[in-house]
Amino acid sequence: MSNTNTSVENHFQNIISHAKEYGFVFPSSEIYDGLAAVYDYGQAGVELRRNLRDYWWKSMVQMHDNIVGIDAAIFMHPTTWKASGHVDSFSDPMVDNKDSKKRYRVDVLIEDKAAKLEAEGKVDDAKNLIAKMDALLTASDFKGLNELLTSEKIICPIAGNGNWTDVRQFNLMFSTQMGSVADDSDTIYLRPETAQGIFVNFLNVQKTGRMRIPFGIAQTGKAFRNEIVARQFIFRMREFEQMEMQFFVRPGSEMEWYNLWKQKRMAWHKSLGIPENKLRFHDHTKLAHYANAAVDIEFEFPFGFKEVEGIHSRTDFDLKQHEAFSKKKMQYFDNDVNPETGKPYGNYVPYVVETSVGLDRLFLLTLSNAFEEQILPKEDGTTDSRSVLHLPAILAPYKAAILPLMKKDGLPETAKEIADSLRKHFNIFYEEKDTIGKRYRRMDALGTPFCICVDHQTLQDQTVTVRHRDAMTQDRIHISEIKPMIDKAVEIF
Ligand code: ATP
Repeated sequence: MSNTNTSVENHFQNIISHAKEYGFVFPSSEIYDGLAAVYDYGQAGVELRRNLRDYWWKSMVQMHDNIVGIDAAIFMHPTTWKASGHVDSFSDPMVDNKDSKKRYRVDVLIEDKAAKLEAEGKVDDAKNLIAKMDALLTASDFKGLNELLTSEKIICPIAGNGNWTDVRQFNLMFSTQMGSVADDSDTIYLRPETAQGIFVNFLNVQKTGRMRIPFGIAQTGKAFRNEIVARQFIFRMREFEQMEMQFFVRPGSEMEWYNLWKQKRMAWHKSLGIPENKLRFHDHTKLAHYANAAVDIEFEFPFGFKEVEGIHSRTDFDLKQHEAFSKKKMQYFDNDVNPETGKPYGNYVPYVVETSVGLDRLFLLTLSNAFEEQILPKEDGTTDSRSVLHLPAILAPYKAAILPLMKKDGLPETAKEIADSLRKHFNIFYEEKDTIGKRYRRMDALGTPFCICVDHQTLQDQTVTVRHRDAMTQDRIHISEIKPMIDKAVEIF
């Protein structure tokens, strides 16, 4: 097996093309030229994404007797976001034209200019401009952004001049109106994180579930951010899904839990076959206002090491804020005896350790890690090639493909019978079109671990050929052995 010598950029482009060609990810509303940083999952993508979500849910909720799940609404009372700090400090830079009074996001203006340069054939200038902008945005250098607007002669399309205000912050939350008459209605937000749905339900779950500290509440669901730099496919989206778990602990014990969850979450990523050298921790040096420790788990994407998951020790910040804004107590009564005082710990606002991973980013990680373009030497000295997704069986969209060798002699009927008996247990692909070689290649591209070929011998002795995706080897097994073989491959715990 050998990798083709594609450049890093080409490799990433090939992953994006592969995702589209095989029904994993499509640009949203593509017939209207798409919507920036919004994507749809196709027939194969939806399965892979669901498998990732299920695997997370099983390892976080099913495998821990002190973690339960919830599913909170996307819309929340607007005060939630005042309490959490998002209304005041979740923002990105924007600028107004003093004459037209029109407001723009600075990145959109600069990107438009870069697109013009590119259209004029000045590709390097366009790339440099984007790189400069990214550096200024990352450093929150607003003065530098104003200077870039001037030096690049970026003008307001309405006023026709560059008479700009100072660059200012712009909130990343999407807002909408609730109620049928806009005047009467309240502004509400599409949640920018799922965590707050957990905090506001902390006591509901603790009381009705009779949970004792330490315990966790897990949730998966959509989050929305009007991201300012959104260019790396599904790495940074405006609509995405988070999988978060808030673990409520006794004050003072948070660092112990933080370190434990750090290790557990890293082990989880490795359990999906991600090589050790492609994962690393990145400690935050500049902590968010609510955290007393924070670390990212980073993966080496085709464009470098980037965050996939954050583990944060959020102190009692969120619960205390909700207590202050709602005027409702967010306390827990701990009747365990404190060995230092000999008395129960009593009432307190718990501390929280959070694990937060983006499902879509995890999807990109999985595709990046699994995708390989292989050159295969042939006996006659020439070569062949194939694109393959080396997905763990538990994540593969289809666990097996059932393929009759020919479309005659009763082979399709037998193959369909086998497919139907397996369908009750696994997602199965049935296909009779094309040569068997072409069908194997298509299954490799979808990451299907097993191809089961039904031939004339099957009719004689009830055996089939199993062709293994990664090694491309073939075995002959009895039909009754197929299910146990797949069961073993998808066993995880
Ligand atoms: P980044 O620094 O990349 O913007 P963040 O630190 O703002 O991410 P968190 O608020 O900690 O991210 O969110 C937790 C996780 O949610 C991230 O680790 C990431 O996997 C995912 N996530 C955050 N923003 C996006 C996005 N715009 N698109 C896809 N996934 C995202």
